[in-house]
Amino acid sequence: MPVKLMNLLVPTALVLAGAGLAAGLTVPSLQTAATPAEPSQAQVQLAALDGTAGAGAAGPQTGRVEAEGRAELPDAAWDRAALRGVMALSTADSLLEEPFRIGSERRTVEVRSGDTVLGLLLPLLTADRDAHNAVAALETAFDPRDLQIGQEVRLLLEHHGHSTSLTGLEIMPDVDRLVVVSRDDADGFVAETIANDLETRRVAAAGIITESLAADAERAGVPYAVLHPLIRMFAHRLDLQRNLQQGDAFEILFERDHHEDGSVARLGPAVYGRLVSNDRDLPVYRFETADGFVDWYDREGESFRRALLRTPLDNARMSSGYGMRRHPILGYTRMHQGIDFAAASGTPIVAAGDGRVEIAGRRGGYGNYVRLQHNGRLSTAYAHLSRFAAGIRPGARVRQGQVIGYVGSTGLSTGPHLHYEVLVNGSQVNPLSVDLPVGRTLEGADLAAFRDMVDGIERRFAELRRDGTQFADRSEEEEQGSAGD
Ligand SMILES: [Zn+2]
Repeated sequence: MPVKLMNLLVPTALVLAGAGLAAGLTVPSLQTAATPAEPSQAQVQLAALDGTAGAGAAGPQTGRVEAEGRAELPDAAWDRAALRGVMALSTADSLLEEPFRIGSERRTVEVRSGDTVLGLLLPLLTADRDAHNAVAALETAFDPRDLQIGQEVRLLLEHHGHSTSLTGLEIMPDVDRLVVVSRDDADGFVAETIANDLETRRVAAAGIITESLAADAERAGVPYAVLHPLIRMFAHRLDLQRNLQQGDAFEILFERDHHEDGSVARLGPAVYGRLVSNDRDLPVYRFETADGFVDWYDREGESFRRALLRTPLDNARMSSGYGMRRHPILGYTRMHQGIDFAAASGTPIVAAGDGRVEIAGRRGGYGNYVRLQHNGRLSTAYAHLSRFAAGIRPGARVRQGQVIGYVGSTGLSTGPHLHYEVLVNGSQVNPLSVDLPVGRTLEGADLAAFRDMVDGIERRFAELRRDGTQFADRSEEEEQGSAGD
């Protein structure tokens, strides 16, 4: 029977990581780390040592050391501070300077570039065997290649005077999963995975665009990280800079996962978005088919995605359309065979569709130029780039939305902009006229389930609109049983 380690692992620590709380705290007392009902022998000894071992940061760091100023911290804040490992004593050096230590110590180590769990353990433990056995057990439940920089490894050490052994360790590979390694009955370790049950709530938000979709959605409670995939999706059907105007309305529904204590564990994904203006009503729904394929669909259940994005960059405005115009540099009237997007120099340009790099290099008046081949007929071209993204060279594969280069003003150009062309069978066409759907169209049982979902979302937003000012900036929450749909 493995020893149950600390239930005190409040997962909010992950969400709050980096918030930086009180520095200078020392190791939390053993009593917060171990089960209070069963004080270990070490604890009993420590209680006796307490007065002499000293409580200051400069004293010997036994497990009994109390943090200065702890009394001022509310318990929850204390726990978070402890869990985040902001205590001052987590370097191996301090261990070496303290030859005599007794008792348990809970220690949080943050993974740095190049670290391995074994590498973290070896300097702390007297017997290398402990470290190797613990890592071997860990690897049965956690792939060491998944170790992330900044991730926390929590250790429970036992100091026996001049030696230190490992009681157990914990890693949280994801907000909903905790891997606990603890001693087994023999001399080894076992690992177990503990599911961290999260409650999924769906948050509805609606508003009017007064400034920009990003700013107004944020005001209505939708973080940009949640909005961004929706923006990417809308970009399939419209040029957001050109087509969105003040007064247009939006609706967004997104998921938010909570820990048992109510704190937020994870934001997103968005499951629904809608843009409404005088002449347009564009809802988009995220849906998972019975075979586990997740994609975005319009109200009819047809894939929302198009073979090409309308706008191959964020935060750009179309400054010149396709057709006859007076050339700004050459002075005479001629055909403008693409569209221009004005954007700051350095703005990332993304591939309008999946494909292969056909050309990436200098090309006369086009300056730095990329041409992508999407299929046997369809290509797109991007000109005047300041530079190419890493790996963009002839033959390389690209995914839709992948950054291929950056806006510049190379070649025959009056200022930073992207000149964008769509070619069908090698000839330029009006990019706005190309509208090829890709992806699936829902049918059968999937379509029926999809329609139910759409109805539910429409009812919910109809209520929202009835309850309050129509499309006033607002968000509301609905409790939802479990993760899923
Ligand atoms: Zn142009």
